[in-house]
Amino acid sequence: MLEVIVIVLVVLVVAAGLAASLVIPRRRRSLGAPRDTAPPESTTPGPGRSTTLAPPGPATVPPDVEPPPSTAGAGSTDTDVPPADEVLPPPVRRPELDVPEPTAGRMQRLRARLARSQTSLGRGLLSVLSRDALDEDAWEEVEEALLLADVGVGATNDIVTALRTRTQVLGTRSQGELRALLAEELVRALQPELDRTLHTVPTGDVPAVVLVVGVNGTGKTTTCGKLARVLVADGRTVLLGAADTFRAAAADQLQTWGSRVGAETVRGPEGGDPASVAFDAVKQGRDQHVDTVLIDTAGRLHTKVGLMDELGKVKRVIEKHGPIDETLLVLDATTGQNGLIQARVFTEVADVTGVVLTKLDGTAKGGIVISVQRELGVPVKLIGLGEGPDDLAPFDPEQFVDALLGD
Ligand code: GDP
Repeated sequence: MLEVIVIVLVVLVVAAGLAASLVIPRRRRSLGAPRDTAPPESTTPGPGRSTTLAPPGPATVPPDVEPPPSTAGAGSTDTDVPPADEVLPPPVRRPELDVPEPTAGRMQRLRARLARSQTSLGRGLLSVLSRDALDEDAWEEVEEALLLADVGVGATNDIVTALRTRTQVLGTRSQGELRALLAEELVRALQPELDRTLHTVPTGDVPAVVLVVGVNGTGKTTTCGKLARVLVADGRTVLLGAADTFRAAAADQLQTWGSRVGAETVRGPEGGDPASVAFDAVKQGRDQHVDTVLIDTAGRLHTKVGLMDELGKVKRVIEKHGPIDETLLVLDATTGQNGLIQARVFTEVADVTGVVLTKLDGTAKGGIVISVQRELGVPVKLIGLGEGPDDLAPFDPEQFVDALLGD
């Protein structure tokens, strides 16, 4: 009887040992996929929308699924395979995705950036206008201040003429009245009636395509990255196309921007055909039903013919899929009238539908917004006010003038 009890106990101990050896390795495997590495809910695509997140790495192997056979020991015999614990790759944490700032109220938040560099214009104009006698010299000073701020000759003439008439009619003027008068004329010069809608909304499940063009160094890639964030903040899925294949690191730069908000980047070999990258990006965007495809291009202004060939080809291959919804021209505000001359070439080559004016935080020549619109006949839709990821704001004439004139 004692023998039987001993045998039963031995069998039980062996069985328990076997069971433990089977369960423990499985638990260990599941450590590679901690719950807190999952992407935030806000970036999870809805039904019918593809994910723009990077494909899952080894860390996402679910607990009860055997991991794929390791290739580390390919060619070795079974006996060479180290224990499961050693084969498993170290846990890979997915990078935390940024939560971009909402777009509403951005211009208000960035107002200080504008005010810092613009108040010289606003204050200067107001102090001249509030003189007791507005003689010829005073009007010349007003004119000079506007020209120095890159408002441009045509717009400066219009503004000064309107101000002269209205101050005469007004007679004695309070500081508040003068500020209101000047604000009205500046807003009028900014053509508030222009349609500044960004066409980034998909048609059904066909993504909107946005082409970003401009001279190198103006901030194209940065703008693509910032714009991707704006769209993600507004709940959209975005795919980036790195068609600037000429500037070394442009694709890496774009990819880094995208990965911070979960937007995938389609890229080609360095020095490769930009049109082919643009084509692939739009195709992938359509296959994955993302909301918006943003394409960064190279702005090599070698010759107008060369640019025309290059951009023309990019445009043509994209249009094989469907129309381009928005062509944004990126322009560096600090380059003044020179930048405008270059910009004009782009408007002749591409059907530019909106201007992004960058680096407005670094110039006292904010008047360029007025001359850009007048010269190019295209509305400024976005402004860049810094190198930070959320330093891009929709352009609003009233708020802009308000910041320009200070409190
Ligand atoms: P790209 O060659 O046109 O693609 O130009 P990049 O996107 O590489 O930008 C060139 C430089 O301009 C980078 O150092 C950017 O950080 C900087 N930049 C872009 N936009 C702004 C802006 O709005 N303000 C400031 N201060 N710098 C900017």
